[in-house]
Amino acid sequence: MNANDFPVTLDALSALCKRRGFIFQSSEIYGGINGFWDYGPLGAELKRNIREAWWKAMVREREDVVGLDAAIIMHPRVWEASGHVGGFSDPMQSCRRCRKMFRADQVADQLRESAWLSSWTNAAASATQTDVKWDIEKAFRWLERKGSTEAPGLVARLAEAGGGRPTAEALKTLLESWNRSPETRPCPACGGELTPPRDFNLMFRTFIGALEDSSSQAYLRPETAQGIFANYLNVLDTGRVKVPFGIAQIGKAFRNEINPRNYTFRSREFEQMELEFFVRPGSDAEWHAYWVEERLKWYRSIGLPEGRLSRYVYAPNELAHYASACTDVMYRFPFGDQELEGIAARGDFDLRRHQEFSGKSMEYFDAEKNERYIPHVIEPSAGVDRIALAALCEAYREEWVPKEGGGEPKTAEPGRPPPAGYEPRTVLRLAPVLAPIKVAVFPLLKNRPELVEKSRAVYQPLRRRWSAFWDQTGAIGRRYRRQDEIGTPWCLTIDFQTLEDDTVTLRDRDTLRQERLPIAALGERIAAGLGEV
Ligand code: ATP
Repeated sequence: MNANDFPVTLDALSALCKRRGFIFQSSEIYGGINGFWDYGPLGAELKRNIREAWWKAMVREREDVVGLDAAIIMHPRVWEASGHVGGFSDPMQSCRRCRKMFRADQVADQLRESAWLSSWTNAAASATQTDVKWDIEKAFRWLERKGSTEAPGLVARLAEAGGGRPTAEALKTLLESWNRSPETRPCPACGGELTPPRDFNLMFRTFIGALEDSSSQAYLRPETAQGIFANYLNVLDTGRVKVPFGIAQIGKAFRNEINPRNYTFRSREFEQMELEFFVRPGSDAEWHAYWVEERLKWYRSIGLPEGRLSRYVYAPNELAHYASACTDVMYRFPFGDQELEGIAARGDFDLRRHQEFSGKSMEYFDAEKNERYIPHVIEPSAGVDRIALAALCEAYREEWVPKEGGGEPKTAEPGRPPPAGYEPRTVLRLAPVLAPIKVAVFPLLKNRPELVEKSRAVYQPLRRRWSAFWDQTGAIGRRYRRQDEIGTPWCLTIDFQTLEDDTVTLRDRDTLRQERLPIAALGERIAAGLGEV
């Protein structure tokens, strides 16, 4: 449920994103490619706004952080030092029947979501309720008649669990046994038998040069962080930086995820925004706490409300051996609370490993204290695509708005028509700073050259500062609806009065309020709305 209690579903959201040009399936004309997404004209603007908001807060507005833009392909030794070669693998299970692959730690969740299991469980629940002597074989045949060919292997298992009789109790026993011993869980897709968990390296491999052998093998980076560590000495030598300081980077990362899912949430190509903040050993806890608060503040500044943000603090036994703390920033997506960003205190693990593998000293000399040490690092690591998805989920609303203007929007009640005098609208209540288009300009009538000319004169200076949109077709109400649906915070209409007194109507997306403003005041007004002044 989002803020106005209208449940946003990924289906509704992805339909809007496709229809209006936010997000497309990659290579769609060839049937798509699983785990890859393309951002259309509006999605590209949205992502750019997220990156810029992050860069502004993390680099431009700080004196202790500098930026970096490292290559995607790095020396293969980098990934040995980082632990990704050999270590960067998810234990994975594949189904002996349908051949699908699953991350071992996700099988339980996927089983819970699987259609066939929920139909079995519902059937079991209703059978108990109505006190009908329930026969799971009957239910299975019923499912078969309904065209479900899923989970035939389950009947045999149920019979086994129920001592020869596939009953509702047998289903319960089976579910309990899956909880007790994960290795007995069936395939979430078909109910077949899964192989034991095996390691699977998540890095995409490629070859450099003409020869394709192990000597020319390289990897697409699975995280941007290593580009920062590998350049730590370069930045130290040239950047006039002093501990504590940070290096920030935004860029693409690639992981051959076993189960890309939840729309863009888990993709195989995605974008990260990472900061490595180098601190004096011993100050880790203090800086870690500082960055957790800073990052939460930033999420609120881009319109994600406190109530749907949370933190997941890792227990000591969940931490990597070198880490002293890790907190994930979570957002309540329609598919549950999920990670947007991980903030980890990684000690000197990364620099020490690169020192070991490269033979270059990573020591820092603190002239004030006259001491040498390898700095410790705090790493806030966020995903652009996940933040874009969270912003879209948060913004999506279905509402009823007064047809003639004048009045507030109401939350639409699903399945019911709007009351008299109201019409439905879909609106993206994006924070203005993220909105792909900040302002739309409408001449009241397209066939009156004097209105069009005046509107152009209003439009041109605005588009030099912000992404602005020109629309002269259709009734004004329809033009508003189009902008609402893509999250444009302000629409300006130029009418006959404009020709007389140089004022325009500014209409607010969220309140629907309209006010007349002098053209000369528009720039300041929009800048204020964007928090630029
Ligand atoms: P998960 O447990 O969800 O796989 P992770 O803990 O491995 O994620 P990190 O390695 O900490 O993720 O990466 C930092 C950030 O990069 C994540 O918080 C997320 O925003 C983003 N990210 C990681 N993997 C993906 C992916 N497959 N698709 C989109 N974004 C991702």
